[in-house]
Amino acid sequence: MGNGDYLVYAMPRAGKIRTGRVRLICVLCFALTLVFLMLPAWTAGMETKAVAATSSAPASSTGAGSFRAAQGRSHQDVPVTGGSKTQRADAKKYLKKWGKYSWIRFVKFQKSGHSGLTTLYSDGTAGIVISSKVTGKKLRQVLVHEIAHAQHNWIYAGNWAASIKAFKSVFGKGKGQFGPLENAADCSTQHLTKSKANLAYKKKGCSAKELSHAKKLAQGYRI
Ligand SMILES: [Zn+2]
Repeated sequence: MGNGDYLVYAMPRAGKIRTGRVRLICVLCFALTLVFLMLPAWTAGMETKAVAATSSAPASSTGAGSFRAAQGRSHQDVPVTGGSKTQRADAKKYLKKWGKYSWIRFVKFQKSGHSGLTTLYSDGTAGIVISSKVTGKKLRQVLVHEIAHAQHNWIYAGNWAASIKAFKSVFGKGKGQFGPLENAADCSTQHLTKSKANLAYKKKGCSAKELSHAKKLAQGYRI
């Protein structure tokens, strides 16, 4: 149905730059795509924040264990555009409740073949697009899944290789290159909303152990 979620990666942290766009095989509701972009100058302030968030992490490790990210962008500063008044109000509510450890550039409601689409940037920030057709409880589940991608990207400061590696061992490899990120986002969604509804990758829900890791991530810790 082309109704997936979509993840976009910006410039990789170290050297290896992949070009083009990788589209995941999307099962139901979510899509994740990675796009590599040069970061515009206006992100300089955010990069500083992301760097600050990682400054206490050991340079030679993924920072697993005690590393905790700084709080990201205030929910009040995230522009939420498009969609209905109710959709925007819902989005703001979820950003306030669950977006503490993230730096989200925007949330846009627009016509889209994907329920949710997240672009991850290598500075640890993220941008979210939600299909205008998604409302109600599904909107909550889809948007929280996308916020979780943003949260994870912030906590790992845009170091996708590190997050994929860490999540693979905890949440499973899933399908495709970004399967671990999708599994992690679903477990974070279940942990945060206490609902297994609309989970596209962990359809049967996550184990208690997986949820305990999602809880740590929700508190800003790397795992
Ligand atoms: Zn996703």
